[in-house]
Amino acid sequence: MRFLLLLALIFAACAPLRPLGPEGDSAPVPEPTPTPTPKPPPAPEQPIPVHIINVGIGFEKDLAVIECPEKKWEFKAGADLGRKEIETNGDCKYGGKVYRGQWAVLSTDSGLAIINVVYIEDYLKGVVPHEIGRLKRDEIEALKAQAIAARTYAYSHLGSRKSQGFDIYADVRDQVYGGKAEEDSIVNEAITATAGLVIKYEDKLIEAYYHSTCGGRTESSEVWGQEGKPYLQPISDSAGGKAFCELSRYMEWKDTFNRTELVALFQKNAADARADKIFPFSRVEQILVTEKFPGGRVKRMVVFTDKGSFEVFGDRARRLFARDGKFLPGSLFTIAQSGNTFTITGSGYGHGIGMCQMGTRARAKAGQSFEEILKAYYTGVQIQLIQ
Ligand SMILES: [Zn+2]
Repeated sequence: MRFLLLLALIFAACAPLRPLGPEGDSAPVPEPTPTPTPKPPPAPEQPIPVHIINVGIGFEKDLAVIECPEKKWEFKAGADLGRKEIETNGDCKYGGKVYRGQWAVLSTDSGLAIINVVYIEDYLKGVVPHEIGRLKRDEIEALKAQAIAARTYAYSHLGSRKSQGFDIYADVRDQVYGGKAEEDSIVNEAITATAGLVIKYEDKLIEAYYHSTCGGRTESSEVWGQEGKPYLQPISDSAGGKAFCELSRYMEWKDTFNRTELVALFQKNAADARADKIFPFSRVEQILVTEKFPGGRVKRMVVFTDKGSFEVFGDRARRLFARDGKFLPGSLFTIAQSGNTFTITGSGYGHGIGMCQMGTRARAKAGQSFEEILKAYYTGVQIQLIQ
């Protein structure tokens, strides 16, 4: 009884310190009711914005089959289909994979486009595991950073492929999306914990580029021949002389090519590498990196042949060496020549712009928060809730 009395006295003493109403008026403060275990009021819940994205997951020449719980849908190309919407109450299967959300099938010049119409937060559940992997709990901040980068990418691409009838491809042309089968409980937790958060620079969504391994230094978007963006600056991804991504198997790589092979490869790949001019030649004499970006990646590479020389710019240099459909891992490299052998020694995997995923994982393990990680890779940004 004395305890209750004491509590009542404490409450009474505290009452005048309560904040005034929102208008700052002097509305009467209700009498406190003494209870043995007063609970703090619940934190106001921030509404999570709900937005839908149209994901182009399949392209068929003749026939598309979508199996939903209610019905198995079949669409033939050539029929005057326009855009056919499918509503379902469950998950449907297409191309052997299960997806959340609704559907649309669209007639195109080359057949049919199969579109998954899905909430962005659900879309991310099928993207993040693909883009950074299923990680353990001690790397959850890396998953959160990846979720926010992927969400920012998705929002900044809404409406970007309007003429094709969808927003985003489900493959490497945008972000790889594997549907529900790809989901993972820790990844989903990271997505929920950051629901609606995106990266902005001066109140605009950023181009949240990311890549596997920077090799210790990121690069500006100029490697793609684009104008540099203030938030995509080259940074040193290291601390105490060690690169955060040093555990990546692409931290150091080597590839060798012989002179004869290069003649065939260069002539085949020149167009894709956007070589400045191309002509028949039968011998590669020398390859020189004549200019580099501030982070060290190739800016200008010159190939000298028996019939003259040609130039390749920036990240496109990776494509010039493409063998069996595989580009060089990155454009942070040097070339050494010995007899008929050209040896390329490089560091990093991917274009090197924006967030380094292997570095992100190491930073998370070292105790950095998703916000610290994102602000390290994207200069001068804010992490905000999408409207
Ligand atoms: Zn890195």
